[in-house]
Amino acid sequence: MPQANAMPPAGQRFYAPEIQTLSVERLRVLQEERLRRQIGRIFSQPIPLFRRHLEAAGVKDARELGTLDDLARLPTLNKNDLRASEAEVPPFGDYRGSAPATWVRIGQTTGSSGRPTLIVWTRRDLEVDYAAASRARWRWGLRPGMSFAQAHPYALYAGGWHMSHSLERMSVLNIPTGPPASEAHMRRAVRLWQRLRPDMFRLFGNAGVKYYEEAERMGLEPARDLNFHKAGDHPSSQFDAVSAGLEALGMLGSQCAEKRGAHLCEDLVIVDVVDLQTGAPVANHRRGKLIVTILEKDNFLLRYDLEDLVTLNLDPCPCGETHRRLYYDGRVSDAVPVIDPASGRVAREILPIDAALVLYEFGELVAPSVEYQIVRPKKPAAELHLRVEYRPERVADPTALARAIGERFRERFAIRARAEMLPWGTLPRFDYKAARVVGAADD
Ligand SMILES: [Zn+2]
Repeated sequence: MPQANAMPPAGQRFYAPEIQTLSVERLRVLQEERLRRQIGRIFSQPIPLFRRHLEAAGVKDARELGTLDDLARLPTLNKNDLRASEAEVPPFGDYRGSAPATWVRIGQTTGSSGRPTLIVWTRRDLEVDYAAASRARWRWGLRPGMSFAQAHPYALYAGGWHMSHSLERMSVLNIPTGPPASEAHMRRAVRLWQRLRPDMFRLFGNAGVKYYEEAERMGLEPARDLNFHKAGDHPSSQFDAVSAGLEALGMLGSQCAEKRGAHLCEDLVIVDVVDLQTGAPVANHRRGKLIVTILEKDNFLLRYDLEDLVTLNLDPCPCGETHRRLYYDGRVSDAVPVIDPASGRVAREILPIDAALVLYEFGELVAPSVEYQIVRPKKPAAELHLRVEYRPERVADPTALARAIGERFRERFAIRARAEMLPWGTLPRFDYKAARVVGAADD
């Protein structure tokens, strides 16, 4: 992997061309070599949680698990397994692949589904993540010498630190402002961008909207005055990068110019996509749960269920990269099932991205974002309940618009949907990731 002082020439198409265009056959051979190395470490070091997991699945020796097919037959592990390990052997559990003295960074998961788990990195782990992130950002056109505005959070969530250090390692001028904290803070950030006019902005959707609106309140035209074009991001920008768990940050990749899913770093991670209900591998272009096995890091995860939903794209990509592609669809916990009244079975699981892509087709709702919620019923229902904000000056007949939205959901997903139209500013706003799914109990 190139060192910070040895970036590829700016005109080069791929960051790491040799690995990114490796033939599919050689890529599979490389993955299996690296898989065997990790499995060997599980038994020889050992890594007790993973060793118990393999032994429970009938694998008694490292030589018994050497292929991608062997791996795909293993049961998955999830956050509860890591949590239990951390509770039994506090504070780090018994699933770390390296000694504590070699660790240089710690992060923790958001803990939205219970006690947060801890993530640790050695220097080598950081280098692997940074090189993967560089590959992803190179695809976006970022090059050494450019400047980059970002608003990731820091502190206990390691995402901001990772973002910053990987940008700096790429010899990019990192302009970190953090998520919008107050009006004064947003104004300072906007003034800074006005002075610097960053080459590229990557603000999470909601942070972007807040900063954009603040710049407008300051009498500025963000595109002209700040070079800030990205606010009110179309929801399809969610597919620009697979931003699933911190545990696999960077190596889940970014989209190339084809915009048909993000290219994985398959030399660094083995990805399986499995059906939410049955656990069986899904077919091309189908949605399923994202299962990762991390290859090149000292601290890694085996058959780990990130509890995220992705759509697989196995088609060869015209851009020349050979690594498979994924669309990042959302969290498993955000999927809202809608029942088919005829059969009584789940007709479709709806995620915020599904709703957003439909709502953004109604131009009168985009001002500059679409603000909406999905209300999760206490038990699965035959109708999807949405709350959608509208600006009365742009929508003369909200009832007719609600009907049109319902009709579009029926066409797109073959489900019934009811849109409850609310005046602009009714729903909560978020500084970072928006909570788009609320429980019916919150009514
Ligand atoms: Zn491509």
